[in-house]
Amino acid sequence: RRAEFAAMRDLPSVTKDGARVELMVNAGLRDDAQALDMVGADGIGLFRTEFQFLVSATLPQREKQQRLYKDVLDAAGDRPVIFRTVDIGGDKALPYMQRDGEELEDNPAMGWRALRLALDRDGLMKAQARALLEAAAGKVLHIMFPMVSEPWEYEQARTLVEHQREWLVKQRKKVPIAVKYGAMLEVPALAEVLDILLPRLDFLSIGTNDLTQFLFAADRAHPRLAERYDWLSIAIVRFLDRVVRACEVHKVPVGVCGEMGGRTLEAMALIGLGVRRLSITPASVGPVKAMIRSVDVTALQSFMRDLLDSGVVDIRSSLSRWAADEGV
Ligand code: PEP
Ligand code: MG
Repeated sequence: RRAEFAAMRDLPSVTKDGARVELMVNAGLRDDAQALDMVGADGIGLFRTEFQFLVSATLPQREKQQRLYKDVLDAAGDRPVIFRTVDIGGDKALPYMQRDGEELEDNPAMGWRALRLALDRDGLMKAQARALLEAAAGKVLHIMFPMVSEPWEYEQARTLVEHQREWLVKQRKKVPIAVKYGAMLEVPALAEVLDILLPRLDFLSIGTNDLTQFLFAADRAHPRLAERYDWLSIAIVRFLDRVVRACEVHKVPVGVCGEMGGRTLEAMALIGLGVRRLSITPASVGPVKAMIRSVDVTALQSFMRDLLDSGVVDIRSSLSRWAADEGV
């Protein structure tokens, strides 16, 4: 099968009936960009910028950040790279970052992390925004914010980046030809305010790792809980269905960048809900592309619709039976 997946590399990610599904990869280090060519992906759907911060002994300076972003953009060529602003804090605490002598957090995953921290420590965010804007000069910059919990947080982050962009323009520096802004949906509360948020977004990216942890109140790193709840549980699938419908109404492109999308049956379910962009681990691109190329998306979508309407509880079994019958 390995050889089979390798042969997939140069084939388009298109369903049997001609629907295009963008297959992107999750990355975080400079060398990860090489995976794009190795597996034949459409771009980087999640660049975890905090990796550079985590592997450094000291806070990476703006110039150093900028060099990394530029190298990644160069390696990606004309394929898009979606940079996620730092998701640090919580369990990804940086030893060199002063936390005002605070206590260790009891619940770091729900703590002062990601955008919460970045908006409070806006010097960090401003430097990163500058680094991204300058690295993407003359190109399209895709930037998304992690752990958005309320629309104002997104708004504030976007305004901060826009101010940096305006400042660069005033300095007569070259800026990106366009900046596309996105939010990650990984805090369930955000799903209740999509009517407010979506009109302000260029794209939405669902982070199913954190999202499912918060939906089920189950620590994503807890070994005893790893297999307890199914990504294809009715709660998750219904939840995602509502989010995808809302994005369709507001005509906002929606992707999934959590690990869920890298598993073939889960990816099939997502495509059946209408998702057309997956960002997954490079090793999953071959198997997921093989699935995409063997599925009829029209049949899949109507099957998923019926499944959800019929109140079937075991989505995993029903979907895998359907796939076997259809020869997917
Ligand atoms: C997620 O939460 O699903 C996600 C993609 O981000 P991370 O795994 O980096 O938290
Ligand atoms: Mg996350």
